[in-house]
Amino acid sequence: MRLMPRLAAAAVFAVCAWLASPAAAQQAPPAALKAAAADSGLAYEIVAGLTTDVGARPAGTEADRRGRAWMLARLKSLGFANVRDEPFTLTAWIRNRESAEIVSPSPQRLVISGLGRSVGTPPDGIEAEVVRFADLDALRAAPDGSLAGKIAFIDGRRMTRSRLGADAGEGYPRRSRGAVEAARKGAVAALVRSVGSSAGRFAHTGGLRYADGVPRIPAAALAHADADQLARLIAAGRPVTVRLTMGATLHPGALSGNVIAEVPGGDLADEIVLLGAHLDSWDEGTGAVDDGAGVAIVTAAAKLIMDLPQRPRRTIRVVLFGSEELGLEGAVAYAKAHGGARHVIATEADFGAAPVWAIYSGVPEAMLPQIDRIAAELAPLGIERGHNRASGGEDLGPLKAAAQVPVVSLVQDGTHYFDLHHTPDDTLDKIDPAALRQNVQAFAIFAWMMANP
Ligand SMILES: [Zn+2]
Repeated sequence: MRLMPRLAAAAVFAVCAWLASPAAAQQAPPAALKAAAADSGLAYEIVAGLTTDVGARPAGTEADRRGRAWMLARLKSLGFANVRDEPFTLTAWIRNRESAEIVSPSPQRLVISGLGRSVGTPPDGIEAEVVRFADLDALRAAPDGSLAGKIAFIDGRRMTRSRLGADAGEGYPRRSRGAVEAARKGAVAALVRSVGSSAGRFAHTGGLRYADGVPRIPAAALAHADADQLARLIAAGRPVTVRLTMGATLHPGALSGNVIAEVPGGDLADEIVLLGAHLDSWDEGTGAVDDGAGVAIVTAAAKLIMDLPQRPRRTIRVVLFGSEELGLEGAVAYAKAHGGARHVIATEADFGAAPVWAIYSGVPEAMLPQIDRIAAELAPLGIERGHNRASGGEDLGPLKAAAQVPVVSLVQDGTHYFDLHHTPDDTLDKIDPAALRQNVQAFAIFAWMMANP
């Protein structure tokens, strides 16, 4: 079917819409939509406004509340229908002041970033000798109790850059599990090498997970330069003592919400095409690339469709999830509230603002021709058809688990994503308006075609 000339295919399916079956192709996107998307500055305007007027948006904080209010007002002013904030509660985490320094043998400051959900230290900090492990497995192999009274330093390697950012998989376990494994060995705190590819002297934050029955010890990421420095000092053979001071606090029962807006469908209005992104961010930067860009891309794509003379047959629902970074609480709340709805397909923009270069799917076989047809429409944007094993995005996990919703990933170029990821460098100046526009074109074409079988 995708080999048919485009106009002929469009004509056949416009006439024979009643023949629609799962394998039937969709209508081709209108030229007016393509033209408007190619010319749209809306996404950049949204991410600039959100990150300037609000700044960082850590889940459950006052800034989160301001971010949702900003976005709700913007969605209403753009003319979306059913604009709402669906609240949920979570345990919020606030960093407060934090610092680390080598006390001996050569006093000097270390650049760190406390990990999300970490407990703080006593006000005067924790001062202890540091024991280095080459990686998380080396720490796991240490005898129980061998780190009593010590700080565990879980090293690793700096990420290498790649389009898929696949190397992050090497580092995530030490960040999320390092504190638990260190505590099991008796450690009083944990330091981990950042998960990231940047050359800048800043640490990449991110969430950790504690385990029931294991003491909750404070944990922070080290900038690569500081992890290198610590490793060299320890290799020199003299005991290295570090003082770690973290004022982090946890706030159970904090309020956040999923911000939702719709372009109402026509004859198939109860069928939903979900465009997702997450509105929360870490506190280190302004959450421009992660994930202000995604918020802007999906909002702009839906708005462009809303502005067409004909309404889509299916409903396009923009879901701006809350609290992706801390623990997917928004995604869980959405799946609980809406898992029973008819989601025809879902996608999430959450890998930065660089151009989309591939479309991956995670759909039943009967839907593959539809995705192939969309891929053919996306090809002129430099987008290639990829595999059918897509996850669709972190926030879609609970929905897929609840309702086997088919997903697509419009895969952004992640080569430089992990230079910025969860750092003070995640700011608006890293976003190229032209690349952002290419994303909007891709998401608009995808959404329109899925909404118009
Ligand atoms: Zn993200």
